Parts: sequence; C-alpha cells; structure tokens
Amino acid sequence: MAQADIALIGLAVMGQNLILNMNDHGFVVCAYNRTVSKVQDFLDNEAKGTNVVGAQSLEDMVSKLKKPRRVVLLVKAGQAVDDFISKLVPLLEAGDIIIDGGNSEYRDTVRRCKELKSAQLLFVGSGVSGGEEGARYGPSLMPGGHKEAWPHIKDIFQSIAAKVGTGEPCCDWVGDEGAGHFVKMVHNGIEYGDMQLICEAYHLMKDVLSMDHDEMAKVFEEWNKTELDSFLIEITANILKFRDSDNKHLLPKIRDAAGQKGTGKWTAISALEYGTPVTLIGEAVFARCLSSLKEERVEASKNLKGPKGAEFNGDKKVFLEDIRQALYASKIISYAQGFMLLRQAAKEFGWSLNYGGIALMWRGGCIIRSVFLGKIKEAFDGNPELQSLLLDDFFRKAVQDCQESWRRAVSTGVQVGIPMPCFTTALSFYDGYRHDMLPANLLQAQRDYFGAHTYELLTKPGQYIHTNWTGHG
Ligand code: NAP
Repeated sequence: MAQADIALIGLAVMGQNLILNMNDHGFVVCAYNRTVSKVQDFLDNEAKGTNVVGAQSLEDMVSKLKKPRRVVLLVKAGQAVDDFISKLVPLLEAGDIIIDGGNSEYRDTVRRCKELKSAQLLFVGSGVSGGEEGARYGPSLMPGGHKEAWPHIKDIFQSIAAKVGTGEPCCDWVGDEGAGHFVKMVHNGIEYGDMQLICEAYHLMKDVLSMDHDEMAKVFEEWNKTELDSFLIEITANILKFRDSDNKHLLPKIRDAAGQKGTGKWTAISALEYGTPVTLIGEAVFARCLSSLKEERVEASKNLKGPKGAEFNGDKKVFLEDIRQALYASKIISYAQGFMLLRQAAKEFGWSLNYGGIALMWRGGCIIRSVFLGKIKEAFDGNPELQSLLLDDFFRKAVQDCQESWRRAVSTGVQVGIPMPCFTTALSFYDGYRHDMLPANLLQAQRDYFGAHTYELLTKPGQYIHTNWTGHG
C-alpha cells in the first residue's frame, strides 16, 4: 500500500540521520540500501519505534510511495548515483522525482538533469551540508535542478533544514540544473578558506607571540563574541584547550599534514576554468598540499634559514587585535570571491541565482555557519545585482576599518617569516581590485612584442593593434 511520503536510498551515516530527521518532522520514509540486509538492521536498531518503513527491493520501495514519488539518493558520489538512476527510471512514472543529496560533481548533475528530462522524470541535485549532526538535527540544504519538483519537496526540505533567526529555514530553491551542487561546492571551498585563515591566525599567535594553548583558546572565545562569531571559531577554541589522557594538550601532538577530499580543489578548478580570481580558496587548497609534504619540509627545515633577529618587540594586545582584523578582512575577501564565482557560473550556465537566499542557506546548519552570513544576506537583499560584496557599504567600510591592522599583521608575519598564504593573497586581491590601473599594460606589450598578440589603447577599447617593437621587418 502506498503509505510513504518519500524514499531514501543509502543507509550509511548521512542517509540514516536524514531519515530520522524526516521522521521527527512527521514524514513517513521508506528506507532502502544496496546491501539490503542493512535495511532490517536499521529498522531493528536506529529506527526502532519510528514510523520508518523498509523495502526489500527497488520495486517494493516504489510500490510503497505516494505519488508523485519522491526518491532521495544518499550514496557514494559518482557511478553509484548513475547505477541507481538507471535502475529507477523503468520503475517510475512521468512527474516522479529523483533527488541526489550526495556530494556530486555539478557537471554530473547538469548531465543527469538532461537525461532525466528526456525520461520525463524530475531531477534535483541538492547540496547537503552539516555532516552527520546536521543531517540528524538540521542541515543546510541547497536544492537545484528541475524547478517543477520544488513545490513537491519544499515542505519536507524546509521542515528538516536548520533554522535561524525567527525560524527561517536554511534551505531554498537555488536554481536550475547543477546550481545546487555548484553552490555546495563553493560552500566547501569557502570552508577550506575559513579554516586556513584560522590556522594562520593560530600560527601568528603561537610563533610570533609565543602564546600557550589555553591562552589562545581564550582569545578565540573572545573573538567568538565579535563579528567573527561562527562555528569554526567556536570549535577552534575547544580544540585548543582540549587535553589528552595524559593531561597535555592534544593539538601540538597532531601531525601537521592536512588531508582533503576534493571539493576545495573543484572550486579552485572552476575558478580557473571561468577565469574568476578566487585566489583565497586556491591558496587554501595549496596550503594543504604544502602541509602534506611533511618529510620534505622536515628536511628543508634543516637547510633553509628564515630571517635573522626578527623577534616581535611590539605590543601583544595590539598585535592580537591586528590578527583578528586581518582574519575578518580576509574572510570578507574570501566570501566576495566566492560570490564572484557564483555570479560567473550563473552567467555561463544561464542560472538565475538568489544570492541572498544562498547566504541564508549557509547561515545555519553547515560548517561555515556564522553571524557574518546574515550581513551578506542583507547586502544582497538590499541590492540583488550587487557586483561585489566589497562594493556594499557595510563590507566596504568593514574592510577599510580593518585595513591598517590587516597590513600590520601581514607585514609583521612576513618579517618574522610566518607563512600566511591566505592573509597575503586576500590583501593582494584587495589591492588589485581597488587599482584602476594595473601593470597589465606591460604584460600586453610583452605579449605583443614576442607573439604579436595585439593590444588595445586605453583611448580605443575594442580596437586591437600590433606594433613592430624591434623595427625589424
Ligand atoms: P558513503 O560512505 O559516501 O556511501 C555509502 C553508501 O553508498 C552506502 O549506502 C553504500 O551501500 C552506497 N554505495 C557505495 N557504493 C555503491 C555502489 N557502487 N552502488 C550502489 N550503492 C553504493 O556514505 P555517507 O558518508 O553517508 O555519504 C553519502 C553521500 O553524502 C555521499 O555522496 C557523501 O559525499 C555525501 N555527504 C557526506 C557527508 C558526511 O559528513 N559524511 C556530508 C555531506 C554530504 P552499501 O551499504 O551497499 O555499501
């Protein structure tokens, strides 16, 4: 008998938690998994006492669904998604909806949208953020794809999503085709940037100011009461003060070689592909790559000397505030760059993106959740056509107010020899963006000199000229 509101395939941690979340909100979910034995395990354990029903086959699952049928896939991204889609297509009817909630590559989502349209099915690619905890108690959800599906899934999605402010859900329709997964990818890239910025602040505190871990934890706790109020600053304070079973701090014992799963890299690749200067996320990815060369760095550290006699002699309290402001200003640059990439992708694909809505979706439920995102929402609500966050009055003033401190933090770090790839690239971007004249005139001349690539004159844009620079015929 058709009794379930929605089906979910994929009973690993994300799928199980999302099912329980939907159940909590009064939806009847039908659970299914490739390894079918896991369905009964789930019903007997985690889902015991709930309204969740199980299916023994895809046919069984489809027969238990109300129409239009809604099927969520939360399986390993890639081939597993395509395999399930091809099995589902013959079992579903026109107007039924398949939703991919995994970390799929946005181009795959674009392709699947096209394929399923020709099968008369509706397809939604939804970013799901917030990890296990988010999936269970309120994730940030970023759905995109065939918009006709939205009225049929809106209630479920917005009910289970994280809420902020006066109960606004961190979920709204993002846009056509792969827009949802693209926005999720940029979210993950921004997460890389936020994390690296915090690491650079920690490095400056530790190696310029020689602060101990408890002292640094207190500073991050204080910072969490300022504009930097966010999940990542909060957990950084907790990590810094955490003590191991031997009562010593755990953090300094952790091997300094960062891992990555690839979504930061995808963001950086997209930025290069679309010619958008998303420098901070790129540097955050490369910082992880450099950190992973641990053995090589250990060798290099024995041979490559840093600056001599560059101890810090300034005022500690002032410098701490300089670091805080450098972090805040760099974070503004990172989000400005992330939204530039969204705008460029929207242009490339013809998506109409709701930028304020995207900021709200990230405001709660996910790793980059922060109070700051509320300000971004206000900026885009005030001007949906805003070219750059840096041109919004609030952010323009915020960066200007931080500027002196930001420059001091960066120059002190450079003099002492601390690597700060994200603080420095953010500042270079700011200085590049605010210059009406860059040295690219010389670059154009060089290109024309050796390769006859032509150039334009400032007075005659659009007219391409070649000069015989050497006088040779
Ligand atoms: P996962 O480890 O990525 O995937 C496990 C699930 O995929 C199982 O149900 C497994 O079925 C199924 N699966 C694997 N290979 C398959 C194949 N070739 N054909 C059919 N099914 C296959 O699980 P997860 O960590 O819960 O993540 C699910 C999705 O959410 C992924 O796309 C992930 O990237 C995304 N995501 C994860 C997180 C997180 O914090 N973990 C956060 C956001 C998004 P069997 O039980 O039969 O092996």
